[in-house]
Amino acid sequence: MSLIVNEIFNSIQGESLYAGRPCTFIRLTGCNLRCSYCDTMYSYEEGTSLTITDIMDRVSVYECPLVEITGGEPLLQNETPLLITNLIENGYTVLLETNGTIDISRIDERCIKIVDIKCPSSGESGKNILDNLNRLSVKDQVKFVICNHEDYDYAKDIIKQIPCGFLRENILISPVRGKMDFSDLANRILKDKLMVRFHIQLHKIIWPDIDRGV
Ligand code: SF4
Repeated sequence: MSLIVNEIFNSIQGESLYAGRPCTFIRLTGCNLRCSYCDTMYSYEEGTSLTITDIMDRVSVYECPLVEITGGEPLLQNETPLLITNLIENGYTVLLETNGTIDISRIDERCIKIVDIKCPSSGESGKNILDNLNRLSVKDQVKFVICNHEDYDYAKDIIKQIPCGFLRENILISPVRGKMDFSDLANRILKDKLMVRFHIQLHKIIWPDIDRGV
């Protein structure tokens, strides 16, 4: 009953509908992708084996009701669903950020899933499991990271495939800083009348020079 954990820290949630809220992050080790813009390469290999009890103890120190499990890709580890359920049973609101290339159906339905859909410039869009779009509940979120116009057009096409019942405001479109001009992306969303949520990584604005633990 243990997982390989890269880091556990408390920060401001910066990448979801919960952006702005204090949140404890559990970053699990390992990823099956190598996205061109990855900013957490240190999570690919580095980590310490911790039991679920150890993790719960470390999380409790922060006295923060919101917890996000991220990576790397957290669903690569077999015990992740159990960790999620344990956290929920202990009263935490749990977010799971996953890269969209692993089936999300075995996750506790009370967990809020933030599912990335990889766009072409990531170099990994061929691995998306688009069936995950049919496994979303109304509280879940879908995220597109956009580097250029090709990515934006790709995202627009995928959004058409997201079932109608899913809230468009739970679809996050996020530009990569330094690659996609923020106002260019915002103008395209307005011109196309996409009822999605334009989204900027808040933690990178608050702590621009820190690349770990935020
Ligand atoms: S899925 Fe996330 S952690 Fe993995 S390579 Fe892509 S950006 Fe990095």
